Amino acid sequence: MNKGKKIHEGKAKILYEGPEKGTAIQHFKDDATAFNNLKKSSVEGKGVLNNRISEHILNSLNQIGIKTHLIKRLNMREQLIKLVEIIPVEFIVRNIATGSLTKKLGIPDGTILSKPLIEYSYKNDQLGDPLVAREHIIEFNWASSLELDLIKDYCLRINDFMQGMFRGVGIKLVDFKLEFGRLDKAGNKEIILADEISPDTCRLWDVQSEKKLDKDRFRKDLGNIIQAYQEVARRLGIMHEEANISEVQFGKPKAVNLKKK
Ligand code: UDP
Repeated sequence: MNKGKKIHEGKAKILYEGPEKGTAIQHFKDDATAFNNLKKSSVEGKGVLNNRISEHILNSLNQIGIKTHLIKRLNMREQLIKLVEIIPVEFIVRNIATGSLTKKLGIPDGTILSKPLIEYSYKNDQLGDPLVAREHIIEFNWASSLELDLIKDYCLRINDFMQGMFRGVGIKLVDFKLEFGRLDKAGNKEIILADEISPDTCRLWDVQSEKKLDKDRFRKDLGNIIQAYQEVARRLGIMHEEANISEVQFGKPKAVNLKKK
């Protein structure tokens, strides 16, 4: 499928114009960044795995009635998607306290939350994606109160579904980030799930060992990033037919070259 012009290049993905109006092609890169771009590297094969894992999760969500931007995966690194107007808010859903929540508020790492906690971050790299309140989102017209109610409902349904899906394969869903967009539907704006859901955007811990199977392996220099992402794909039943995909498709695992500014 021919790609059109580049619309946007983000940290881990590139968006190109799609073959028809209202569509786009989302390309998954191997680039990894953390700490608001202070830590950067390339992790060979990461884009391929995130493309497959995100396709699997979004398709599964679609099957339980959550509308998403995914039309279909095109190849190893690309997906055909519906072009939406992205709401400039990252919706963080947490089941267990870790990461920025523990750092900001001094909550002990690993604290199990009594119910899912939803946080909002304003999507703005220059400001470091600051945590904002629902009132900021409404006041600055990033989303309406009605839209936020709907999105909160989606977040909780997605969390319930994904917690069960991961628990079934021995993984705890600790937290994750979602993005939503607006789609024109007969003059009305419909809210649909956008972006990606992958080990780059979730924290996933092995139930038995609490081993991290997500981007924290990159953030914390724990190594074996690709092996961890592959483990997630394999447990979800995505890559069972390609038992040793790292050697087949990406060459032998390489040491990660870390550049810190
Ligand atoms: N997250 C993300 N993109 C972001 C910020 C967070 O995908 O720009 C995900 C992150 O991988 C984790 C969850 O959202 O699964 C909560 O992240 P947290 O706020 O703890 O951020 P961090 O500790 O990474 O700064």
